[in-house]
Amino acid sequence: MSDTTLNAAAFADPALCRGLLETLEAELDGPFRFMEVCGTHTVSIFRSGLRSLLPEGVIHLSGPGCPVCVTHDREIAAAMALAGRDGVTIATFGDLMRVPGPGGASLKSAKAEGAQVEIVYSPLDALALARREKDRTVVFLGVGFETTAPTVAATMRMARAEGLTNFAVLAFHKLVPPALDALLAESGGAAQGTGIDGFLLPGHVSTIIGVEPYRFMADRYHKPGVVGGFDPADILQSLILLIRMRKSKTPDIINQYSRAVSDQGNPRAREMLFEVFEASDALWRGIGLIRQSGLAIRDAYADYDARRRFSLELPDVPEIRGCKCGEVLKGRLAPDGCPLFGKTCTPASPVGPCMVSTEGSCAAYFKYGVEK
Ligand code: SF4
Repeated sequence: MSDTTLNAAAFADPALCRGLLETLEAELDGPFRFMEVCGTHTVSIFRSGLRSLLPEGVIHLSGPGCPVCVTHDREIAAAMALAGRDGVTIATFGDLMRVPGPGGASLKSAKAEGAQVEIVYSPLDALALARREKDRTVVFLGVGFETTAPTVAATMRMARAEGLTNFAVLAFHKLVPPALDALLAESGGAAQGTGIDGFLLPGHVSTIIGVEPYRFMADRYHKPGVVGGFDPADILQSLILLIRMRKSKTPDIINQYSRAVSDQGNPRAREMLFEVFEASDALWRGIGLIRQSGLAIRDAYADYDARRRFSLELPDVPEIRGCKCGEVLKGRLAPDGCPLFGKTCTPASPVGPCMVSTEGSCAAYFKYGVEK
């Protein structure tokens, strides 16, 4: 097997996958627990059938890489408080509509009670809405990781260039590497071990940030990581690379997804991102405050910052009782280990955000079944 020379079409080829699976089985030297950081990987592992094909000893744990899942209850509560204000239209991606906030209420229920909440497919749609509805202020909910934040930044630049004053962003963007650092530090890192042997790192986020921001995982915590693509062969190849690094005791960060991710990422996108945003402390649902893990709008764009424009604080809210999303997002609990899974919590009636998003691990476990 060549680790880097396969072309894009080959990654869905069943014969290739069979060969990679055999290689993986041959090279596996004991139980191997890996964390797939990104929700897209979670879904791909289920949808492709990989979960049932992987050897018994290979265990996958989901990580904090579903942006909807990690949006904090207090952030949802702030968005709902804003939705109730006169003259405000909230523009949001559809996934966020059903994320439970305080008392199980959501943006969807707020809309049913008369709040102006519109589903959009991109921040540019929100900008178009602002152009059409000049008598209202359109507030786009900025949720997502390094992948989506540059587009939001570009939209804010456009709004300013046009002199559009009825557009703002409620920014709850989050950064992946600080969350991984917090996760590894919390569990004692190299000293105590996380129970995780390697990390399947997010392909989409890495198109922006590149490979180096993960280097600390190998250097400080001695954990190998592979930036992987999303086809089954990508995932299998990434797992083989992780297993080899564990075996040789040479933890490193490898870019398996080089057909889409350059080691340097996308400097132009980062430049745009950091022209508008700066790193700030952020709340992650079920995890808590992680230093420098979010993106706040810079002073130069304060006019487009909904938090400042509406003097919005994050309200205190009681935790959702019984929801174990935090444990799931830290890889400490499989979704079916939550007592509410499939009982009071289903995709039709979600108790927590991990059951709402199509990329949430609870939703994936429910949709594709949990048997191996
Ligand atoms: S099954 Fe539902 S309640 Fe349990 S952790 Fe997942 S989202 Fe939360």
